[in-house]
Amino acid sequence: MHCRRVRSAIFLFADGQLGGTVEIAFRAHVEACPHCLRELEAAERLLALLRARCRRAPAPAHLRTRVVTLLASVSRQPLEDENG
Ligand SMILES: [Zn+2]
Repeated sequence: MHCRRVRSAIFLFADGQLGGTVEIAFRAHVEACPHCLRELEAAERLLALLRARCRRAPAPAHLRTRVVTLLASVSRQPLEDENG
């Protein structure tokens, strides 16, 4: 695996989405390539920051009520004839 391929997969790896032989090749490259290791560490720091800053917050009650009401009204409407 070359640096370019590793860099294109860094965020997938950091997010635990690689697997199989691709992940094995990725790990082998990063262990031997200090440049890609630095890129990986930067990607992991960025993901950690995003996870810390982007926690889920509950929707405000009035918004939740509007969405639930809207969804209920849509689900009661008859389906349009797609062939018509
Ligand atoms: Zn590399």
